[in-house]
Amino acid sequence: MKPTLRDIQMGNNEQLSNKITIKKAPTFEEAAEAIKVFCNEELKRQIVIAKRVIKGYPPQTSFSNLKITYHTSKRFYKSRGGRRGGKPFITLSLYKWIQNLMCGESHCTFDEYALIENDRQIGEVNGSIEKCLSALIAHELSHAIQHALKANMSDSSMVFGYNKTQFKKPHGYAWRYIYGLLRKYAVNEAK
Ligand SMILES: [Zn+2]
Repeated sequence: MKPTLRDIQMGNNEQLSNKITIKKAPTFEEAAEAIKVFCNEELKRQIVIAKRVIKGYPPQTSFSNLKITYHTSKRFYKSRGGRRGGKPFITLSLYKWIQNLMCGESHCTFDEYALIENDRQIGEVNGSIEKCLSALIAHELSHAIQHALKANMSDSSMVFGYNKTQFKKPHGYAWRYIYGLLRKYAVNEAK
């Protein structure tokens, strides 16, 4: 039987399925590798949840179809998600998180855009590195989902009550709706 939203909320999905385990005082390369492994697993977990909670989840945004790039250099400070050449992609900038992991930082902050930073559901996140990375992944995955859905919309069609113009906006209401579901079911309750 398919789990209900409440099952997902109350069940195993409350726990992040994986933790970053690493020896003390890791090198930059070791920390980067551990974070990449975590992000891959976390993306898979979030896509499973997203398929359950987002009606009409676009199949193009499955884990195997998603082009994932990890940047570890300080120069690439901006994470992104969306659609390029007709394919969904996610690019994660990991430098800050590698630094945090190397410093043994246990309490981190994932900043959100000023417009939503104080929102109870989709605002700034404080917690473990895993929880912050989970929020980062949810943010960028939501962009990939948003653009995959938009690609199938006509100018007059509505999805989740939003028109194509709303789906074009980077952090507009259509994106916020998708991100809100991911944050609620995959991130906010996670330890
Ligand atoms: Zn964004």
